[in-house]
Amino acid sequence: MKTDTKAEVILMKCPETQKIYGVRVEEWQGDWFRTWAFPVDVKKASHEGFDKNKIRGNLYPADEYNGCPYCKSVCFVQCTRCGKLSCWNNEERISCAWCGLTGDVSRIEDEVDVKGGDY
Ligand SMILES: [Zn+2]
Ligand SMILES: [Zn+2]
Repeated sequence: MKTDTKAEVILMKCPETQKIYGVRVEEWQGDWFRTWAFPVDVKKASHEGFDKNKIRGNLYPADEYNGCPYCKSVCFVQCTRCGKLSCWNNEERISCAWCGLTGDVSRIEDEVDVKGGDY
């Protein structure tokens, strides 16, 4: 078995608490999986360069993913304006915790096996 797993830490922000957190992501066979979320403060995040990390592709939650450290959500949205990631709690109205954009934040499809066309 090869063990050249790529891992990064990306930042997400929780709209409920306005706090940021780091999410460890690992690349397995071309897809990214969120494996661990942990609270982090802004200073530490920029010191570590977390805010510079960029991930392309799918971002699935791994089985062991613990979700947002604040609201426990495992879903997220990517803002169409600032491109940053925020928690999403399956509410109709979605909002960006970073820039405050509401309504037209496009949801990233992060479910592997979404069934049916039922919205
Ligand atoms: Zn949250
Ligand atoms: Zn935004």
